Amino acid sequence: MTPILELRNIDYSYHTLDGETKALSNISFTLTRGEFVSVVGPSGCGKSTLLSLIDGLMQPESGEMLLNGRPLTENSERIGYMLQHDHLFEWRSIWRNVLLGAEISGRLTPETKRHAKAMLEQYGLKQFARSRPSELSGGMRQRAALIRTLLMEPELLLLDEPFSALDYQTRLTVSDDIGQIIRRSGKTALLVTHDLSEAVSLADRVIILTRRPARIARIIPVTFDLGDDTPLARRNAPEFKTYFNEIWKELNRDEPKETRTAAPN
Ligand code: ADP
Repeated sequence: MTPILELRNIDYSYHTLDGETKALSNISFTLTRGEFVSVVGPSGCGKSTLLSLIDGLMQPESGEMLLNGRPLTENSERIGYMLQHDHLFEWRSIWRNVLLGAEISGRLTPETKRHAKAMLEQYGLKQFARSRPSELSGGMRQRAALIRTLLMEPELLLLDEPFSALDYQTRLTVSDDIGQIIRRSGKTALLVTHDLSEAVSLADRVIILTRRPARIARIIPVTFDLGDDTPLARRNAPEFKTYFNEIWKELNRDEPKETRTAAPN
């Protein structure tokens, strides 16, 4: 089967007046349809740069990026992007926020509206359709932002730290909740996160990047022997800590002693 996404030997550098900053070096990996993959790495290593390249916002210096076997530049509209902040507009109701992407891209049809209505109902936001974003909790806002993204029917979802603006307690429930919605929708997802627990609880594989310029240190397949494989069940399973420690060790492998991340309790 053709992978949905294939990156081959991607390099990227930023050029500024101060000089060149190499952000990515020789990045190669593939995503299979329906897979959920997390990307972790030290702060500033190049994770957001990687997503920006896949989203087509920037072009790689060298290497190849393929979506469904074709150059990504030819079909990057099949990609949805969810960022740290939900970017809901306060002057629009939730209903009109959800429809915004379809409206801008000229794809607002009666069918899209029916689909939006069904998703608002399915994800428990029907009674908030007329509300303003400030009337919703952080979790509900992220759901609305996800509906807006899914309404564009992306084949691949890019998630850049989408839960990091939430407080810890909310973050746990919202990441589990959104993770399950994405799984049930059968979408392929690439999640950038600095939260190792989040990476392990949501993903089929975890890509570990090195310090800048980011190279792939390891790709760890994550499997849990669970009847009901939910993020919450994973967090409570005995394998969870093993995966967490494995990733944490890999991230700290090349760090000078004084900058090492403290060991988890
Ligand atoms: P991460 O998402 O892993 O925190 P980024 O991809 O945002 O890292 O950035 C990788 C590196 O590239 C950073 O260390 C930063 O110094 C550099 N960088 C990011 N954006 C720019 C930019 N617009 N111009 C110059 N350098 C940048």
